[in-house]
Amino acid sequence: MNARGPLTPRRPIRELPDELISQIAAGEVVERPASVVRELVDNALDAGASEITVKLTGGGIRSVLVEDDGQGLPAAELPLALRRHATSKIESLSDLENVSTMGFRGEALAAIASVAEVSIASRCADDPKARRLDARSGEITPAARGIGTSVEVRELFFSTPARRKFLKTESTELSHCVEAVRRHALTRPDVSFAVWHEGRLVQQWRRAEAEARLRDVLGTEFIADSRAVALDLGVLRVTGRAGTPASARSRADQQYVYVNGRFVRDKLIAHGVRSAYEDVLHGGRQPAYVLFIDIAPDRVDVNVHPTKIEVRFRESREVHQAVRRAVEASLAEAIAGVEATTRTEAVEMLPGTFGQLAAAPDPTGPVAWGRSDARNDRYGGTPTSAQVALSLHQATVLFGNEPAAPWGSAGAPGHDGTRAGLSLVHLAKAATHDESARPLGEAIAQIAGIYVLAENAQGLVIVDMHAAHERVVYERLKASLAASRIEAQPLLIPATFAATTAEIAAAEAHGDTLRSLGLDVSPLSPTVLAVRSQPAALAGGDVVELARSVLSELGEHDASSVVQRAQHEILSTMACHGAVRANRQLTLDEMNALLRDMERTERADQCNHGRPTWRQITRRELDALFWRGR
Ligand code: ADP
Ligand code: MG
Repeated sequence: MNARGPLTPRRPIRELPDELISQIAAGEVVERPASVVRELVDNALDAGASEITVKLTGGGIRSVLVEDDGQGLPAAELPLALRRHATSKIESLSDLENVSTMGFRGEALAAIASVAEVSIASRCADDPKARRLDARSGEITPAARGIGTSVEVRELFFSTPARRKFLKTESTELSHCVEAVRRHALTRPDVSFAVWHEGRLVQQWRRAEAEARLRDVLGTEFIADSRAVALDLGVLRVTGRAGTPASARSRADQQYVYVNGRFVRDKLIAHGVRSAYEDVLHGGRQPAYVLFIDIAPDRVDVNVHPTKIEVRFRESREVHQAVRRAVEASLAEAIAGVEATTRTEAVEMLPGTFGQLAAAPDPTGPVAWGRSDARNDRYGGTPTSAQVALSLHQATVLFGNEPAAPWGSAGAPGHDGTRAGLSLVHLAKAATHDESARPLGEAIAQIAGIYVLAENAQGLVIVDMHAAHERVVYERLKASLAASRIEAQPLLIPATFAATTAEIAAAEAHGDTLRSLGLDVSPLSPTVLAVRSQPAALAGGDVVELARSVLSELGEHDASSVVQRAQHEILSTMACHGAVRANRQLTLDEMNALLRDMERTERADQCNHGRPTWRQITRRELDALFWRGR
């Protein structure tokens, strides 16, 4: 007796019958009608189709019919197409390693035929007429159709009622089917797709240019609210579009990633994208994006998942970095509305081939704070130490200083292209020489205690001064932290305050961390903390308030690894304290200094919480307000 009751008598090992093997395989491959649609459209694309029509009834549960104008298959091979492990797409292991077709496992049709009624009609170019094979009877009969193939799948899971129960309503299944076609449509603009349901056309995408197809599938809004992504490393390319943080959604329903044309759900890539949005996206918001990753086939293994929805990269770290950098670069465009043009810069800035990239050690390596490597490189655009020193110097006098000349000759963003003030440079290129130094224009006034108005070549600029300054300070703090250069400014008279036990504990446990942030906080008595220095960049703010909020953040993360991960949150808290408050009257010089700082700052068009920092109202929009030129 064992715990679960008497052992059943042992059964002898037997080979499973073919039909059962296929049904087991079908469990992995065919989950719902949309899986059938995906497999059949994959096959049509592999056959070189340029027009694919999907006709559904009952949400695809009653029937799925996929018709294509591909090369077809000869009548003699029809039965083979339905056999397990029978494929025309690979012959050898080396074919497998360089596979460029969507299919290669030779099991989709067999699996589908084991859980549904299947028939295939096909005609090749030199066939006088089409032939149809009925999977159940094995009968081949004449059929009427042009060159190409039609595969019909009826009564999915009719013989496996347990699985049929897992299906949702017809309309849910239909929407999954349409989504399956949409995924194909995004990556194959050269092919026309149509989806019919119960005799009604529900979706259609006509052959188009790549740009136009993206717009047709995802909408003009997505195009307007996203920036081009373009990174070319030779053996690895990342292209597509990344949605602006402001357009992020509550659901992750517009995230499309393709590896060599195949739609995938890859954690590594998703994480790379997510980390690019880290500083600019509010909490649980989901960015929209479409990314096409093209990589030499021998550097990616597509044979790790039955439906090939997951892949494995040989150099996964490099792929992760490339994705992150590509998206970061497109988001770092400081001024909205300017297309990312990082293509050439990216190639120049990164090692020419993927192999070199893999071999090259990170030039900076992890510094005191774990995550700083991400932006501490040629591409991410952390300022050089000279720039950091300069920016810290400027920070100390931020709102009293003269609008400084652009970053001195050596560090000027437009000259070495290493800073992602890039977009301003691009904007400037389009404008005349005079305006090139100041794309955000000249400050004219401050209204409502918070908005700065400026005039530039395009018209009127409105800046949320707190949000904008917060971002400027934050990026500056990040840069100096990455260079281990957060400058501390000693206080002549230490600021003391009555502290809670938690605050005192945090001050004692995180003394080093605090010092690396420019804060010297230590107990003066069992109930009083003294602040003896503050970050120079934040001079002038309320130092006690600053110390308390940093202590409270540190208190929440006591393990130092957690603190490392929370570093950007802490900096963001500090930036909020350091940023100019609403209702402070600024002089024109101070306003202009802020505009110039924004122009030099990465990601300046969003504050740390993802809100916009500035808006442009063009001359044309102004004219329209007053019916000018009608
Ligand atoms: P795989 O796509 O992995 O090869 P399938 O079971 O999906 O396996 O298809 C088996 C074979 O049937 C394919 O290799 C192909 O030769 C043929 N086939 C399937 N669908 C089509 C089609 N629409 N047009 C031409 N040939 C097809
Ligand atoms: Mg296939």
